[in-house]
Amino acid sequence: MIVDKLGRRFRNLRVSLTAACNYACTYCVPDGKRLLKATNELSATSLLKGVALLQQAAGIDKVRITGGEPLVTPKFDEFLLGVMSIPLSDVSLTTNGQLLLKKKDIIQASGLKRINVSLDTLNPVRFKQIARGGDLKTVLNGIEEMLDIGLKVKINMVPLRSQNLGEVPAMLDYCLSRGIELRFIELMRMGHLLHSASFTNDFVSMEDLLNKIADHYTFARTDAPYDSTAVRYKISDKGIFGIIANESEPFCRACTRLRLSSDGYLYGCLSSANKSYIGDLINLPAHEALPKLQGLLVKSLGDKKLSFQGEVTVMKLIGG
Ligand code: SAM
Repeated sequence: MIVDKLGRRFRNLRVSLTAACNYACTYCVPDGKRLLKATNELSATSLLKGVALLQQAAGIDKVRITGGEPLVTPKFDEFLLGVMSIPLSDVSLTTNGQLLLKKKDIIQASGLKRINVSLDTLNPVRFKQIARGGDLKTVLNGIEEMLDIGLKVKINMVPLRSQNLGEVPAMLDYCLSRGIELRFIELMRMGHLLHSASFTNDFVSMEDLLNKIADHYTFARTDAPYDSTAVRYKISDKGIFGIIANESEPFCRACTRLRLSSDGYLYGCLSSANKSYIGDLINLPAHEALPKLQGLLVKSLGDKKLSFQGEVTVMKLIGG
């Protein structure tokens, strides 16, 4: 097992199936261009080999399928079925929800138990302004279908001061009434936001968010797993919400995350551009691949920071 001085090890792997996305969210994609893949993206078969090797080399036991938008790529079906057949303690999916209705049958057949849907607004006009693609009604229908087939659903919302902050109570009402855990993601200084005034203008701190919620609900902090990204709060008799507070309360000291990008690179930390290519190792016999992989994992673990400092790397390229 590879462990660092803080006792951190890799346990959760996020696999980006593609950098292509059917949205171009203003805080993620600066030029508004949708559906752009990374060059030399790996096949589903290669990514699955990568997962199996990382399970052996690093002790990965949880996988999150992400992107880009994982549902836009034809690789999705093969990857989902393949990863569900690997003995892992948890598999989850992060999606913008636009194609959930189309993928309902494969999701149901795969036995997947939970998904996170990214949804920043319940207002159709604002939806177009932020996502610059897709359609709100389709996402909401997709969420209802997932609940109907018994999946546990969480919703991720990025509160933006100039856009959707006023919708926080409505989003909470929507989620609480459906047994959905709403997770607010503090805006991160990633990609074009690293040195941009729009980060400062739009950032909403955990404190400001809690003050806003306190106008509508009474809540108390509740337990979260050791390596959870979210600080969680309970609203009595109604449900739970969480805040992923990269800036206000970074979780770096307990981070167990590793990322595999669609073009075959390992990233040990969101706040570091360092990366290691494993696309070539994947096709070697395990006895040759594993020692090489161990070396790269030591390097990736060394990239982990003590606090989130932001990075020019774009979320959609390395998997949010
Ligand atoms: N397309 C999928 C989706 O929408 O969930 C997966 C990829 S997306 C990059 C994953 C998450 O990252 C989304 O919830 C998105 O809102 C979030 N995200 C992207 N850029 C961000 C930023 N600068 N700060 C905070 N969250 C960000």
